Amino acid sequence: MTAGDNLFGRLLKRAPLAGDLPDVLGAPATGLHLYLDGEGAVLQMAGPLRLLLAQQMPHDKPLPLHDLLLPHSTLAIEGRPQEWQGLLLDLDFPGLGEQTLHLRGWAQPLGNGWLLQLIDIADLLSERQQAHQREACQGIAGQISKQLRSCSLGRLPMVVSDQLQIIAQRWQIPCVALALLNEQEQVWQVHCQFHAHDAPGLWHDGQRLGTPLDSLNGTGPQRLGAHYGQYEHTRVQGLFGNAEGFAVPYSDDRGVMAWLLCGFYAVDKTAPYLTDRDWLMLAGALAGPLLGRLREQQHQLQLERLESLQTLLGTGWWEIGSAGEHIQLAPTLAAILQQDSSKLTLEHWLNLIHPADREEVRSRLQALQMHGEILDLCVRLHPHDASQAPAWYRLQGQVSGTGDHRRLAGFMLDISDIKNQQQLAAAAHARLDNLIASSPAVIYVQHYVEGALLPAFFSASLQPLLGWSLEDCDAGALVERIHPDDRALYFERTRQLLREGSVRARYRLRDSRGDYHWLLDEARLLRNDLGLPVEAVGLWLDVTEATLAAEQVRQSEERYRILVEDSPAMICRYRPDLILTFGNRPLATYLECAPEELPGVNLGSWMSDVQRADFIERLALLTPESPVSTAEINLQLPGREHAWWVWSDRGVFDEHGKLIEVQAVGRDNTEVRRSQQQLTQSAKMATLGEMATGLAHEINQPLNVMRMAIVNVQKRLSNGDVQIDYLTDKLNRIDAQVQRAAKVVDHMRVFGRRSEIEQQLFNPASAIEGTLSLLAEGMRGKGVDLRISETPFEVQVRGYVDQLEQVLINLMVNARDALLGKRESESGFKPWISIYAERDEEKVRLWVEDNGGGIDPRLLERIFEPFFTTKPVGVGTGLGLSVSYGIIENMGGHLSVRNSADGARFCIELPIAPDD
Ligand code: ADP
Repeated sequence: MTAGDNLFGRLLKRAPLAGDLPDVLGAPATGLHLYLDGEGAVLQMAGPLRLLLAQQMPHDKPLPLHDLLLPHSTLAIEGRPQEWQGLLLDLDFPGLGEQTLHLRGWAQPLGNGWLLQLIDIADLLSERQQAHQREACQGIAGQISKQLRSCSLGRLPMVVSDQLQIIAQRWQIPCVALALLNEQEQVWQVHCQFHAHDAPGLWHDGQRLGTPLDSLNGTGPQRLGAHYGQYEHTRVQGLFGNAEGFAVPYSDDRGVMAWLLCGFYAVDKTAPYLTDRDWLMLAGALAGPLLGRLREQQHQLQLERLESLQTLLGTGWWEIGSAGEHIQLAPTLAAILQQDSSKLTLEHWLNLIHPADREEVRSRLQALQMHGEILDLCVRLHPHDASQAPAWYRLQGQVSGTGDHRRLAGFMLDISDIKNQQQLAAAAHARLDNLIASSPAVIYVQHYVEGALLPAFFSASLQPLLGWSLEDCDAGALVERIHPDDRALYFERTRQLLREGSVRARYRLRDSRGDYHWLLDEARLLRNDLGLPVEAVGLWLDVTEATLAAEQVRQSEERYRILVEDSPAMICRYRPDLILTFGNRPLATYLECAPEELPGVNLGSWMSDVQRADFIERLALLTPESPVSTAEINLQLPGREHAWWVWSDRGVFDEHGKLIEVQAVGRDNTEVRRSQQQLTQSAKMATLGEMATGLAHEINQPLNVMRMAIVNVQKRLSNGDVQIDYLTDKLNRIDAQVQRAAKVVDHMRVFGRRSEIEQQLFNPASAIEGTLSLLAEGMRGKGVDLRISETPFEVQVRGYVDQLEQVLINLMVNARDALLGKRESESGFKPWISIYAERDEEKVRLWVEDNGGGIDPRLLERIFEPFFTTKPVGVGTGLGLSVSYGIIENMGGHLSVRNSADGARFCIELPIAPDD
């Protein structure tokens, strides 16, 4: 009311109002004096408050009291002043500047009228209102804290939100929030907020506000905004949207723990009757119980966590009572240890521990009790079942507090898993150590010192492998033990390791017995963060055996190479298309070129078409199961007539069984072949000689016939009785005989020639025919009956027709000899020789049989041997049958003999050549 007093002061100096009425009121020092007529109309006004009224006295007429009052006050003055006498009137007047004047007064008669004396009761009213407000505030605060304390933890967030809303609505706060201190991070965080639907959302739940609130003075409510200026810290202002704001702290024993924030809130205008104390109480009613509940929740959570952690870990706390006789276990621990009660006597508890560890635990517990020595042991529990492995526990304990508060407490933790793993790891480690120790490998570490690598560690395998220890192997000693020839290599290995970071080398190292070992050294350089070398880690692998074996292989390869190179045999490798990939010197010599020129040359180029076809056909028969084939091959070599090679091929196959290469070894058989041929030839000549007698007869016969014809013609001529017909007839006869003789001589010539080089296809019947043309007449002349069956089929065999004839001649001549021998001793004997042929699918057989009595069974085995004969010296050569046997074999056939009822029975068996 300072402003009012000033105004009052100024107005006092004004001149009194002029009026028609006598001044009955004078000039009272305070209040407002109204002089009323009997009807209650104002005739005169006095007193300082008169100047503060919105409505002033008109000069000319009385003013109805109603016109001076606010509408609600008119009710208090119904009727006339007389009726108000003795009543206390509370009247509200509209004042200047929209203000209301709260006045109290009473009416008393004065003169003809009434004096209404009024005093200002605004202060009184405001005090009363304040008291009301505080009461209401206390009530609400009590409600809030009751709500927060009594609700369940689950409903707590909802209840907090409701209470905040109640506060906001009750004191018309557009935005309100409760910020709590996040104790872990020491930042402020909006726990809960509410804003009126028409107010902007200044904050949101869970919003992190950071630390600006710390700059506010937490001892009382803080007003923020342009009007206050006291805390115009921009960060705080920012929190309140740079508008007017109000912040109420809540502190407990830990300091300021919460702020009630009111945004867009001019507190002094909107809630003028609330004091700072009221606000603190309100904030306390909200934050106090809430923090309590939250801490309770936190505690609960921690307890639950601890509980589940204990259960999970198989752990729990223990505490020994002050008397030292009992031990209290965490319920979870008691359950794990299968104890009904969580309080045990110390002795009972000690009995749960494995006897092996029990006394140690007892003694360490005493040390803890008496000297406060911290207990930390790994102990085993006594297993219920002797077959079970004991469980391992870590037992820890310490003393805390002193005097009456002295406590012996700790925890037990199940570490069976770790112990098992430790044991497994130790076993694995031992196995690994063992493995390294017994393997032919040494692991080593060399420290890098100023460019040099100094041995720092060797695995235990060093001793069994080389017979040294680390001490024997300082850098100098190591170099000493390296084979002198390999030292340069070792130094280069170290240089390369430092240069490139890794190396692989092979050198010899002397062991403690003086023997050298070949070591494969693989090393890697380890560097530190700066890239500087720290140490080299490496592995020595004893490769002595492998190295020696490789050396042996190399040597044997060398020997093999020398063998191949220097062998008198022809050795070569060629592809299935007969292109040589390698040939040794003897082969090159035969082929008249240098060994280097052989690869790429076609082996088939020295063969005739037929020979090449045969050769390839033979190769086609090679299989992985029977990869070797041997044959005598015939080649036309440069500068030579014919060469015969005995040739062995060995096929090399891929995994699919396809022939990829042939390795061949050959031997020149030409000389052998030649002598064989000469032998055959001489045998043939012998046969011819044999046959000379028969031949004479053969040729004599036509000569006799011709001579007879000529004698007869001459006789006729001398008689002069020559008829043309008769002459012609005789001449024809002579001609026929000439032809017959010529045929014999011709065949003789053909037979006497050497055989063809290559085998030909021919019909064996032609050989029988040829043989008979030479022998038939002679045989018959000797009285031998030739029984020749016509060959009823046509077949082809491969070979030499003259050679087959030679065989047949041999057989027939042998038969004739046997027959004639028998006739000498047996008169009336009728000798015969039978020749016939038969065939099946594959073979043709020529039979030569006689009735000469056969061959002595004891000699049957031997008659094919060369030079075996039963004939007198100079008569038999013993070659006939052996050469014949060779000829038939050479044609792929077989010559055999057995005795029949009458004599010997020879069989020539030949394969039938397929028709092309
Ligand atoms: P050679 O006729 O010169 O004695 P061979 O090799 O032709 O030589 O015959 C060897 C031997 O076989 C003959 O000495 C003879 O004892 C016996 N031999 C061969 N053929 C017959 C045959 N048809 N009957 C009886 N013995 C035979």
